[in-house]
Amino acid sequence: MSELFDYIVIGGGILGASTAMQLQQRYPSAKVLVLEKEASPAAHQTGHNSGVIHAGVYYKPGSLKAKFCKLGNAATKAFCEAEGIPYDQCGKLLVATNPVELERMQALIGRCAENDLPIEVLDQQALCEREPNIEGLGAIFVPSTGIVSYTQITEKMLQKVVNLGGEVRLSTEVTGVKESPEEVTVTTHSGVFKGRHLIVCAGLMADRVVRMLGVEPKFKIIPFRGEYFLLPSKHNQIVNHLIYPIPDPDLPFLGVHLTRMVDGTVTVGPNAVLAFKREGYRKTDISLKDCWEMLTYPGLRKVVWKNLKPSLAEMKNSLSKRGYLGLVQKYCPIITLDDLKPYPAGIRAQAITPDGDLVDDFLFVKTQRALVVCNAPSPAATSAIPIGEHIIDQLDVSST
Ligand SMILES: Cc1cc2nc3c(=O)[nH]c(=O)nc-3n(C[C@H](O)[C@H](O)[C@H](O)COP(=O)(O)OP(=O)(O)OC[C@H]3O[C@@H](n4cnc5c(N)ncnc54)[C@H](O)[C@@H]3O)c2cc1C
Repeated sequence: MSELFDYIVIGGGILGASTAMQLQQRYPSAKVLVLEKEASPAAHQTGHNSGVIHAGVYYKPGSLKAKFCKLGNAATKAFCEAEGIPYDQCGKLLVATNPVELERMQALIGRCAENDLPIEVLDQQALCEREPNIEGLGAIFVPSTGIVSYTQITEKMLQKVVNLGGEVRLSTEVTGVKESPEEVTVTTHSGVFKGRHLIVCAGLMADRVVRMLGVEPKFKIIPFRGEYFLLPSKHNQIVNHLIYPIPDPDLPFLGVHLTRMVDGTVTVGPNAVLAFKREGYRKTDISLKDCWEMLTYPGLRKVVWKNLKPSLAEMKNSLSKRGYLGLVQKYCPIITLDDLKPYPAGIRAQAITPDGDLVDDFLFVKTQRALVVCNAPSPAATSAIPIGEHIIDQLDVSST
């Protein structure tokens, strides 16, 4: 007979790790099990991101993103302090390079006020003093933004799960889930596990696990590649802060940034182009199953049609290194084509509705005994601690 766990968590990314750690902390005698299909934690989005501890500039006031990002910014830094994980509160500059962006900058200043975020507004001269290699008409300085390794945080959280008596099983892919009023049965390649509650943090596979639960998801996960370049070490001091362009307010996640990483290097990116495989990191990785699912999904056709111009521009700049260079030269003209060295891409899991809308906020689906994280794009790594707390609050522990 299979062992009965109190909580089974699918996914060893930062959301699964944060939830499992907080479950074990809140209920010390509970039996918590984490199932991760890869041989190491943080193998997908969590280990392929920009490593930015976001402050929460862009998010709609009152949204879960705005709330959890602000709480998560402080909680992530506190966790790093407590666990001796290096991070750097280097701050971020949002740079306006033309009159349109200067106007959009005013709207962003208003949004920072609505989200109660302390910022400093810089004119051209103040920007030049702070960042001699950056050109712009003005900028917003966000001091609370930082950088960290989310892989390191995830590994530490999972280590804490084990230290507190929980279990983490790597290389264990979940292939089936069955829910009854009393328990959930989880089938894997290496055995069957039963749990009183199931929490699913499966990132790029979220919709597929929802379907395993017998629920037809009202969205599909569409994978978007985020391609980066690494600058040569001679440019490790090129900027003092993170440098972001002022985004189009309708597509705030577009626009490549210059990111100082915790290891001292600097990356450029990411862009956002459709990926032909959910967990394929090379440009040439193609999954016929993933492509078929995407091409036959009306939501994808509608989203591309609605955003045709930016979609084509992103595609062009993905195929042309010179085009990509133009995006960063807008605010950092000293970077040349030779400075753009290869760097691993990341793949975002973005939920899209059948009507062709990008699901903007974090999204959770709850059944009687399971809670599935369905949409957790950036800033979900920053927000992982409050998201984990939120998930636990949603579970109906009275049915334990
Ligand atoms: C390019 C890029 C840049 C980003 N930059 C930032 C940033 O700077 N700051 C920020 O806050 N956020 C950023 N994000 C967002 C952030 O990385 C994600 O929101 C976050 O990592 C999501 O964590 P997760 O645990 O939900 O997903 P993941 O890290 O993808 O983890 C899901 C896990 O579930 C496992 N899994 C899936 N299916 C199964 C199964 N059937 N059985 C067992 N295991 C399974 C997978 O193997 C995976 O390990 C970025 C994302 C990308 C892609």
